[in-house]
Amino acid sequence: MLLSSGRHLLASAGLLATFEGVRLQALTGIARSLSSAAAASPSEASDKLHVCVVGSGPAGFYTVDRLLKRYGDKVHVSILDRLPTPFGLVRSGVAPDHQDTKNVINQFGALAGDPRVSFFGNVLVGRDVALQELRQLHHAVVLAYGAESDRRLGVPGEEGPGVLSAREFVWWYNGHPDARHLPVDLSQVESVAICGIGNVALDCARALLAPAARFQPTDMAGHALRQLAGGSAVRRVHLVARRGPVQAACTPKELKELLTECGVTAATSAPDQLDVSAADAAEMKATRLKRRVHELVSKAVADGAKQQQQAAAGGGSGPCGVRELVFDFYRNPVEVVRGGPGGAVSGLKVERTVVQPGPGGGAPVAVGSGEFSVLPCQLVLKSIGYKSLPLEGVAFDSRRGVVPNLEGRVLKAVPDAKALAAAAPAAAADLDSGLYVVGWLKRGPTGIIGTNLVDAEETAGSLLADAPALLQAHGAAAGGRQGLAGLAALLQSRRVRAVEWGRWRVLDEAEVAAGRAEGRVREKVTEVADMLSICGV
Ligand code: NAP
Repeated sequence: MLLSSGRHLLASAGLLATFEGVRLQALTGIARSLSSAAAASPSEASDKLHVCVVGSGPAGFYTVDRLLKRYGDKVHVSILDRLPTPFGLVRSGVAPDHQDTKNVINQFGALAGDPRVSFFGNVLVGRDVALQELRQLHHAVVLAYGAESDRRLGVPGEEGPGVLSAREFVWWYNGHPDARHLPVDLSQVESVAICGIGNVALDCARALLAPAARFQPTDMAGHALRQLAGGSAVRRVHLVARRGPVQAACTPKELKELLTECGVTAATSAPDQLDVSAADAAEMKATRLKRRVHELVSKAVADGAKQQQQAAAGGGSGPCGVRELVFDFYRNPVEVVRGGPGGAVSGLKVERTVVQPGPGGGAPVAVGSGEFSVLPCQLVLKSIGYKSLPLEGVAFDSRRGVVPNLEGRVLKAVPDAKALAAAAPAAAADLDSGLYVVGWLKRGPTGIIGTNLVDAEETAGSLLADAPALLQAHGAAAGGRQGLAGLAALLQSRRVRAVEWGRWRVLDEAEVAAGRAEGRVREKVTEVADMLSICGV
């Protein structure tokens, strides 16, 4: 039996014993860490560079790593996360069947356990503490809260049931508390249209098409696994790409995994979709990865056609029980068709496109042909990119969905077109002194976890270059910054139910123990109230 919530976890007698033992140990440690924070002498507090990192995903943790490595004992970092759980996208974004990718949490866990680092989960900036307060308590604040919203298609029918962003669907199957109660009912869905063909689209396609046994031993959320194992009616996934296979955003390794490990047959919705133009041929010649994507799709589609022929020769209409992946290249979504009962989704209307050279020799662009068709489906997933959200008091470039910055130093305003065209370096007066940004919030929603290493190196480098000036401006002589002691006191005074590292470890161990009992990596708790109850806050 799968355990799906903290209440179930607490109801299990064996687990409760584990939980109590771990909890006692952890609480002793927490008491020690809090008293040492409170006991820090004012001079000790004022000698140090106090940094607050908002967001505990890969970008935040890599920044902490860089700061500790380069500033030694002279830095203290407090990490805040709005959820009681750490690790951001590693917990709620990385696919459950990519457990190797998640091993990075061992490195992040070691960092969080370092005496120079404090973690406070379940603290939302803007609700529990104001950004301005964090800035007054620390020499520097690093914004690392990622991208928790989505680009919009901007087509009729997009809003309403039966349409989710890929982020929401990924959060749902990964047990993110905000997506726990999304109305996903795969028993009513035979065909899914996924808009976009990046790696997130492939993650969603694998979750929908692969046998549930692939996810059984993983940390996929219990509620998702139960649907996939017992109740999913999904037989077909359309991958809808506005450009061709040569321009696909996904990478060959991930595409091969979907095509060869998940028991799917592949097809294209029209025979000419794998044709190669002269421009495509040039792109494929120049970039091995593009050539490889085209080869993989071509081979899978040819194999799929052979299987269909064999099945037809044997009297059937297709390989029995096999799920189908349909590539719909050169198709731009123009409307979500709501022809089902009560406005339920019945299809995705698409316009055939033609790919043309981009303006000024830029990337090839898709241009509409005026020819339309409808892909029958009951669920549409928009996998066209994540988007960051603005934070009050911080400049935000809403077109690009990023905080404007110069090598991680936050700018006071979005540079105007003239300054951008002139590539004029920002003056000190343009910088929002002491405020930094890293990760998807800094560069947009692209790149793998490792990309954040380089990104964090740059932001931490900027911060450390500024550190002498920040310390001088807000050092002991200027009243200092209280850092951890001040932050802990503020959270306590507001009765914020903050989850410190030791308390998260209680939840962590309870999840792992519950998973182990079921032969799984972990059984995630998916409700914040249950998390807090297990953590004992
Ligand atoms: P992505 O790679 O940027 O792909 C976005 C897709 O959406 C593209 O196919 C794009 O098509 C399409 N698109 C964008 N706007 C559109 C519109 N208005 N209408 C129709 N299609 C539109 O984004 P992602 O898949 O969300 O991935 C984000 C990052 O995470 C990527 O860097 C990815 O590699 C990484 N990631 C990596 C892994 C892994 O390594 N296993 C797993 C997940 C994610 P065009 O190309 O035509 O614009």
